[in-house]
Amino acid sequence: MNLTLDIIYLIATITFIYGLKYLGHPETAKKGNLIAAFGMGIAIVGTLFLHDLVVPTFTYVLIIAAIAVGTVLGWIIALKVQMTKMPELVSLFNGFGGASATIIGLVEFNKSIGDPTQTTTTMAAIIIGSITFSGSVVAWGKLNGTMKSLIRLPKYNLINNVVILGLIVFAAYFVWSSSSSQPLLYLLLFVALVYGVLFVIPIGGADMPVVISLLNSLTGIAAAITGILYSNMVMIVGGILVGSAGLILTFAMCKAMNRSLFSVIFGAFGSTQAVAGSQSVKGDIKHATVSDVAILMNYSQRVIFVPGYGLAVAQAQHAIHELEQLLESKGVQVKYAIHPVAGRMPGHMNVLLAESNVEYNKLAEMDDVNPEFKNTDVVFVVGANDVVNPAAHNDPSSPIYGMPILEAADAKQIIVNKRSMNPGYAGIENELFYNPKNSMLFGDAKTVIQSLISELKGM
Ligand code: NDP
Repeated sequence: MNLTLDIIYLIATITFIYGLKYLGHPETAKKGNLIAAFGMGIAIVGTLFLHDLVVPTFTYVLIIAAIAVGTVLGWIIALKVQMTKMPELVSLFNGFGGASATIIGLVEFNKSIGDPTQTTTTMAAIIIGSITFSGSVVAWGKLNGTMKSLIRLPKYNLINNVVILGLIVFAAYFVWSSSSSQPLLYLLLFVALVYGVLFVIPIGGADMPVVISLLNSLTGIAAAITGILYSNMVMIVGGILVGSAGLILTFAMCKAMNRSLFSVIFGAFGSTQAVAGSQSVKGDIKHATVSDVAILMNYSQRVIFVPGYGLAVAQAQHAIHELEQLLESKGVQVKYAIHPVAGRMPGHMNVLLAESNVEYNKLAEMDDVNPEFKNTDVVFVVGANDVVNPAAHNDPSSPIYGMPILEAADAKQIIVNKRSMNPGYAGIENELFYNPKNSMLFGDAKTVIQSLISELKGM
């Protein structure tokens, strides 16, 4: 029996590794997801029916009922969710992973008393799982806007650091004293949950992507720790893969955001105002009509599209691909400039544009495309705002100060499409809109791009 289970775990582990490899590219991501899901499926079935323990039938009934309810709920939610709500859903799923680790830690606590290694592992599962759970719930609220205005405490850096140190000392006490106190255990749980909330509340502006990938990584670490509790190889490997992939992504996001991971963890980040920076933007804005922009693009040699969150809201990914093909057929060279935190989840724009079959080699990363703006006739900013905001360079009080941006201002002509003068996620004004080279083309991205296509077809 156990040899069969070991072989199943080995197969599952291999599918996770291949799944992760395929997830690295939008063209193979679906296949990667299916392969890893298959591996997870056989690991669950194998664990249920091939383990050595004697389990009462009623327990099986409970487990199968829980799997059925979870599957149906997950299926319905995943089918119904809009693409723009995907980052929130991922955040919530992260949170559930953390909650599972916490529950396992609580269930196994009594068995671990007296064994320092097991108690340490149990404490780690409870603390990391709880921080991931409550932190992810706050991240979910911040992404959907319901918790955006949560007020952070004064001296929050100091408070956060004291609370996390307190948690470590508290956990060390359990290991050292072999205490079996349930009230103390639940106090530890409560403090860890509070820390998760305190940790994410102050984070705003450009820092949210970093914290989201960090929470993602913590989910994996929590899962790996619970795997250690059960000496379960597939849980350990699965958790480590999620944890390390999440950490790699966190480092990549830190690099993209110009932050160090130390400042992320120890609270020196997210420390700027969530509202506006101190410099207020003044000047006039120019308006453009669809036909002005169509003429401009028609007679250009090089055009760069800068997609942002608004493109996802408008579901304009197919329309922008059609516009790109139309311009190319007229001899205009078109590229998409992709900022690493455009949208609301890492890789959001890549996934969105892959959905409409935009060729991958048309997507240019920030560092590669920035030197090209000065030789570009028109930059067309579609539903993007923070990722092209020059305040990142020249307003030290801005919440996005220090974040590298797409240098759209270097292009010969700038066209910004959005619906109004409302700010983006960071809640700040954008001086690019007042740049003499810029004209605003107001309207929903999909409607505007479709009108541009009709206008260009008639030229
Ligand atoms: P922004 O949030 O800065 O701006 C999006 C703009 O799109 C808004 O100004 C909005 O203006 C416009 N918009 C909304 N709906 C439409 C529509 N239907 N048609 C046209 N325009 C529309 O987006 P960016 O992509 O530039 O920047 C991403 C921001 O999100 C950054 O601050 C980043 O830190 C943050 N973030 C990113 C995450 C990630 O992992 N990628 C995670 C969490 C946060 P209007 O309402 O006037 O139309």
